[in-house]
Amino acid sequence: MGQSLDPATREALLGRVRFYRDLGLTEFYRRPVDPALAARLASTPDEPQSLGAPSLPHVLSQEDQPIPPRKPSFSSPAIADAVPEADRAAALQLIRDEMGDCTRCPLHSGRNKLVFGDGSASARLMFVGEGPGADEDAQGLPFVGRAGQLLNNMIAAMGLKREEVYIANVVKCRPPGNRVPEPEEGATCSPFLFRQIDVVRPEVLVALGATAATYLLGHRQPLAGLRGRVHSVRGTKLIVTYHPAYLLRDPRQKKEAWADLQIAMRELGLKPPSRG
Ligand code: SF4
Repeated sequence: MGQSLDPATREALLGRVRFYRDLGLTEFYRRPVDPALAARLASTPDEPQSLGAPSLPHVLSQEDQPIPPRKPSFSSPAIADAVPEADRAAALQLIRDEMGDCTRCPLHSGRNKLVFGDGSASARLMFVGEGPGADEDAQGLPFVGRAGQLLNNMIAAMGLKREEVYIANVVKCRPPGNRVPEPEEGATCSPFLFRQIDVVRPEVLVALGATAATYLLGHRQPLAGLRGRVHSVRGTKLIVTYHPAYLLRDPRQKKEAWADLQIAMRELGLKPPSRG
């Protein structure tokens, strides 16, 4: 018989097990682990009996379509918040591995590279865009074209570095001609986004544009009615602002976008860097 674990170690290990279970990541359990430890965890009464898949988002093609509220995914926020960055990065990699050479929706046929996400796995701030453009499709990274340069400038204006935030899109493959993803495409791909959010667990989400806001909030509403206030999504604060590509087309709205980002900064306790 193996040794029994002390309560603190057992609770920490179970917390980690719950963290992965809540993400729907079952592969974690099949990674190489100490067999004796695995046997002891398997015999504990708190061991989850079933590993449910994460709930699918409710994607909406009509305005004002009601959806049931989503609950935060974690069993224990205190434990989840204590998860080390390396574990979060590993969890993100598991999601990426699960996506593989994804052909789940029609967008796969036109892509060069799947654009999963970029940035810190334990970022306090996460940006969500609509989908990759031509530059992103070529490089396999989100927001690397002109809109990405503007987003980098916005991040710098907030006093942050790009590598300190996490960036992902609703769909991971480029829609033809940069069109808005079809509801079927968004519905198929966005569960991966929600799992990324659940891993990173940022303090603040920023939705860049109406499509990101629609999928995060679960209902379609004009951007004007969503900006300027703090929403709640999966237990995380959400700010809605313009997509950088829109700001490139209409730079007059940059001031409005900056006002939105200042709300995010306030929620994060950030002050803009001095301009010396
Ligand atoms: Fe798969 Fe998402 Fe690409 Fe569709 S957009 S093929 S669901 S990765």
